[in-house]
Amino acid sequence: MGQQLTPRDLWKAKWRIKSVAEITPLLYSEPLSRQLGANIYLKLESNQPTGAFKLRGAANKILSLSQEELRKGVAAFSTGNHGIAVAYVAKQLGIKATVCLSNRVPQEKVNRLKRLNAEVKIIGSNQDDAEEYCYQLEAEEGQTVIKPFDDLDVIAGQGTIGLEILEQCPDVDQVVIPLSGGGLLSGIAFAVKTVDPAINITGVSMEKAAVMYESLKAGRPVVMQEEETLADSLLGGIGTDNQYTFSMTKQYIDQAVLVSEQSIASGMRAMLEFHKMAVEGAAASGIGWLLDKQPQNDRNIVVIISGNNVDHQTIQRIIKPR
Ligand SMILES: *Cc1c(COP(=O)(O)O)cnc(C)c1O
Repeated sequence: MGQQLTPRDLWKAKWRIKSVAEITPLLYSEPLSRQLGANIYLKLESNQPTGAFKLRGAANKILSLSQEELRKGVAAFSTGNHGIAVAYVAKQLGIKATVCLSNRVPQEKVNRLKRLNAEVKIIGSNQDDAEEYCYQLEAEEGQTVIKPFDDLDVIAGQGTIGLEILEQCPDVDQVVIPLSGGGLLSGIAFAVKTVDPAINITGVSMEKAAVMYESLKAGRPVVMQEEETLADSLLGGIGTDNQYTFSMTKQYIDQAVLVSEQSIASGMRAMLEFHKMAVEGAAASGIGWLLDKQPQNDRNIVVIISGNNVDHQTIQRIIKPR
């Protein structure tokens, strides 16, 4: 693949991943639409077999590796969902996967990786340590590191969500996307802006350690200390040597916004009460933001519900705030 994404890459990704990842439903939310005075559509990536969209990017990347590379296996460093996706695809293909995590990752996610036959290595208290170890594995054992966002095949995989949105809601005015490393936003934005640059792309990050948000403000990738947040899947840096997602996010994003922990919890409660769905904090951040800020009347707003990997304790805590 060249150094830039083309629309063809998205269609190739769609074709490649079709036996691994689901085409997810776009659910019209009657209660949210009524409450907000806009047409709210939920793109349910929580319906992926792994519970999150990261399956798309991981599948597209791994399915583009050579036989020789597949034989040596794959490795990933991840706050959870990307690791689960890599392990899931590896299990489907019968290849080896090693996942390196920080000790901040919830136990539920660790157990799940083990059930997918992945070799799990817990390294240090932040993603950077896990990442370093992962590249050490690549150098010593020849496993291919599957990056969580800063890779064109991964971005193209996430971009297939954008193709589906155009098909399921051709009148879309705005897409609200949880934003961390920017793979999800870059892929979707590339897909929809190629068809109509007027479609608004809104990136939502948590107030605590919003690395991409601060990097966009600074005009270069910045480094920040991770903090406890309900949106744990949005934790992690964007890499000071970021190649693609920083510049793509900068190019395509119309507005970058922040949500408080309370708003994330409100978004999670809205998904539980209105739709009987338990989704994780990262996935509820878009709804949390919309509930805070009354959107413009009658707009067609697609909100990416990015994943559902949340533990019972967290759900209990947001139902009964301390
Ligand atoms: C990874 C992830 C995100 C953010 O995606 P980026 O490509 O890193 O911006 C959002 N929600 C969930 C559930 C995730 O796992």
